[in-house]
Amino acid sequence: MDFTVSERMQTILGMVEEFVEKEIIPMEADYFRRPFRELDPWLEAKRDQVKQMELWAPLHPKEYGGMGLRLTDYALVAEALGYSPLGLYIFGCQYSDAGNIGLLARYGNEDQKERFLRPLVEGRIRSCFSMTEVEVAGSNPTWLLTQAARDGDDWVINGHKWFTSHADGAKFAIVMAETNPENESRHRRASMIIVPLDTPGMHIVRGVSVMGHVGEAWDSHAEVLYRNCRVPRANTIGEEGQGFVLAQERLGPGRVQHCMRWIGVCNRCFDLMCNHVRRRRRTPDEMLADSDVIRTYIADCAADILSARLMVLNTAWKIENLGVKQAMKDISMIKYFVPNVMQRVIDRALQCHGGLGMTDDTPIAFYHRFERASRIADGADEVHKISVGRRFIRDYDSGRTKVKW
Ligand SMILES: Cc1cc2nc3c(=O)[nH]c(=O)nc-3n(C[C@H](O)[C@H](O)[C@H](O)COP(=O)(O)OP(=O)(O)OC[C@H]3O[C@@H](n4cnc5c(N)ncnc54)[C@H](O)[C@@H]3O)c2cc1C
Repeated sequence: MDFTVSERMQTILGMVEEFVEKEIIPMEADYFRRPFRELDPWLEAKRDQVKQMELWAPLHPKEYGGMGLRLTDYALVAEALGYSPLGLYIFGCQYSDAGNIGLLARYGNEDQKERFLRPLVEGRIRSCFSMTEVEVAGSNPTWLLTQAARDGDDWVINGHKWFTSHADGAKFAIVMAETNPENESRHRRASMIIVPLDTPGMHIVRGVSVMGHVGEAWDSHAEVLYRNCRVPRANTIGEEGQGFVLAQERLGPGRVQHCMRWIGVCNRCFDLMCNHVRRRRRTPDEMLADSDVIRTYIADCAADILSARLMVLNTAWKIENLGVKQAMKDISMIKYFVPNVMQRVIDRALQCHGGLGMTDDTPIAFYHRFERASRIADGADEVHKISVGRRFIRDYDSGRTKVKW
């Protein structure tokens, strides 16, 4: 493995870090207290600045207006952007758009690319991903009640989803629905279908309140009903029945991107913690930093973050050099390891801040509430651990006698 950072990337990272520090962090207090749409003019102005600096959409394809960075380089950018909750949005690589962009770039046809992918990469529209259902376990991706029935050249979709994040104000959703329920294989029954949000029969029921926050626009999660929602069959992404495979393709790289961002969250909390304990006195003569207990918190966080960071970089390197298939165990491992590291780091940082940690005067309380979802969304910890354990056992079943990383 070679994690050398090229000169070009060092320059890019310097620019990104400076922008986050000077232009984004000062606005965080407003983000924590005001409705998202009120920030729109400011957010758009910052996004324009990023475009002028030619740093827009670092991960996304060049031919559609992104920078087209390779994954190991993007890992470092995502880490720098994760330093603020608004970093990814302002640089045009926010979820769920990032996952949808990756999917459309690989599997969309030319018409879908022009109508949906291009404006998405350019940041002119937003999108959402509608897979998880209210009535059945999201942890079992082959179990869907949403049906898309064939009617001439159309699909007629009926179903009930929730946690369709960012649906409010989005132009289209990528909906996972069963199109081939009779197929023998559970993995060949669903398809991914593009549904514009203004399609009759597509109803946002409510914004789901998460940790006391309903939110709006990009900053929200919708419950959605599809009632005889009719779209052309030409809106199918890839082939009919390929939905499960595409979901794995979409979620795999998506998980790596989330983990990269979470290392940024860890870095931010670590910096806040180290700075706070150096400034806060526990007695008139001593700082919190003079306490050995506090020093062990810092030491634990440092080792936690560094190990998580190296695992993420290693996974990105494997995907880039050996392919996604060779990195499946690693992707699952970082998906449970990094969120747990992040949770410990956030918690220790909050503890060191005392009452201040509970306020919205720092981003720690925000991270404490909203990053808890990291252990559930895109696959709960248990599901990934079961998959990792199963894959290792399978290796040994097929003759391996020594571990190979
Ligand atoms: C903030 C947030 C944003 C989200 N955004 C989106 C989105 O944009 N689009 C979308 O489609 N979905 C989204 N989701 C949904 C998310 O992917 C699901 O919540 C997740 O897949 C888990 O499904 P579930 O909630 O139905 O939990 P369930 O499947 O009901 O599982 C409940 C719990 O049971 C345990 N469990 C489940 N299966 C097993 C097992 N086999 N063995 C042992 N234990 C198990 C786990 O602890 C799990 O947390 C989001 C979720 C959150 C919280």
